[in-house]
Amino acid sequence: TTSEALTRETLERIRAHDGRYNSFITVAEERALEQARAADKARTDGRAGPLTGIPFAHKDIFCTEDLLTTCGSRMLENFAPPYNSTVAQKLDDAGAVCVGKANMDEFAMGSSNETSYFGPVTNPWGDGLVPGGSSGGSAAAVAARLVPAATATDTGGSIRQPAALCGLTGLKPTYGRISRYGIIAFASSLDQAGTLTRDARDAALMLNTMAGFDPKDSTSLDREVPDYSASLENDLSGLRIGLPKEYFSDELSPAMAEQVRSAVREYEKLGATVKEITLPHSHLAVAAYYVIAPAEASANLSRFDGVRYGHRCDNPQDLNDLYLRSRSEGFGEEVKRRILVGTYALSAGFFDAYYLKAQKVRRLIQQDFTNAFNEVDLIMGPTSPSPAFAQGDKTDDPINMYLEDVFTIASNLAGLPAMSIPGGMVNNLPVGLQIIGNYFDEARMLNAAHRFQ
Ligand code: GLN
Repeated sequence: TTSEALTRETLERIRAHDGRYNSFITVAEERALEQARAADKARTDGRAGPLTGIPFAHKDIFCTEDLLTTCGSRMLENFAPPYNSTVAQKLDDAGAVCVGKANMDEFAMGSSNETSYFGPVTNPWGDGLVPGGSSGGSAAAVAARLVPAATATDTGGSIRQPAALCGLTGLKPTYGRISRYGIIAFASSLDQAGTLTRDARDAALMLNTMAGFDPKDSTSLDREVPDYSASLENDLSGLRIGLPKEYFSDELSPAMAEQVRSAVREYEKLGATVKEITLPHSHLAVAAYYVIAPAEASANLSRFDGVRYGHRCDNPQDLNDLYLRSRSEGFGEEVKRRILVGTYALSAGFFDAYYLKAQKVRRLIQQDFTNAFNEVDLIMGPTSPSPAFAQGDKTDDPINMYLEDVFTIASNLAGLPAMSIPGGMVNNLPVGLQIIGNYFDEARMLNAAHRFQ
């Protein structure tokens, strides 16, 4: 079939079904068809790669030239960037067809996709269920089979937790593996782009295209990109898997724990050895994250001042009024909460007590992993404490919502690569098996993910 036909069919499916999921903020029909025709031409000319002509969605946090990029916020409701993020450029260059921009929590802050200015996203596994967040639109679009793949970002779990709740494969690579250039910044020392796909094979194809050094991102790492597809079938005998005992405590229901343990037993059948390990500072991860991430967010979001771009209030009386009303109108509740917390944590009198302390905890957490990876090759455990929950369940209780990421945040603090893969079912809903790797060990994680699937 041609990419044009495939793209038309994809757009048709989105039109027919996305009313139910709300997984797209923008559908880019004309642009997609143009890209598809160019891809068909590349194929006839013999210039095609594995992604040429394949439709996919971008989380609406990736700047796409002349295509609306809202970050799920009223602040950027009318923002069409004048340039492409490096990720968007690389996928364009590979001939992939961007059919639209996926819904997300506002500025990627959330775990349920209920903070989007463009309305909540529904999990394809059941009406009234959240898809997880913040990349809930990307996850729902792939889970509903509207697109085979979507880009996403993970600052504290936003790729892995929606992957778990929607029964998908989510990959967050090592910090610095994929360029952050042109990705709207939330917490710059934690943000990492990655993918939501049905399986590890597709994740490897996407990562091959998205990864690599970028001089436009000062935290990008100049390191060779291996062919992630090449090692998918490798034998797993001798693989050393660690199960952190802290991840199987009170946060996890017995049914969830049993499902994860039974997934890990499959690895033993594949020749891996499994042992208990300890990550003694795990219980501090959420607390440290909710100082560091809001602190960085409060600085990053100061650029939205109503002057340069983004929402501007009507008839500002003076400069203060312009700032105050533009930001009050442009940002939602959760974003405001983060800005307030972050500004407080960074203020002169409290900096040492909160921000500096959180950074020290961060180092301890990173050290826990370094110690663990002296003994094991991969760490496995649950991705989230429970399967998909009901919309509205946690919206009145931000702290409870924050605990959704109790198992995912530590790898962001340490900068480690991590995945969530489908790990079975609890209450007829999918649960995720989390795989955490050592720095730049994406190939080994994908190999393990692939052999399980
Ligand atoms: N749920 C976490 C938060 O709200 C993580 C979000 C993310 O990874 N972007 O901050």
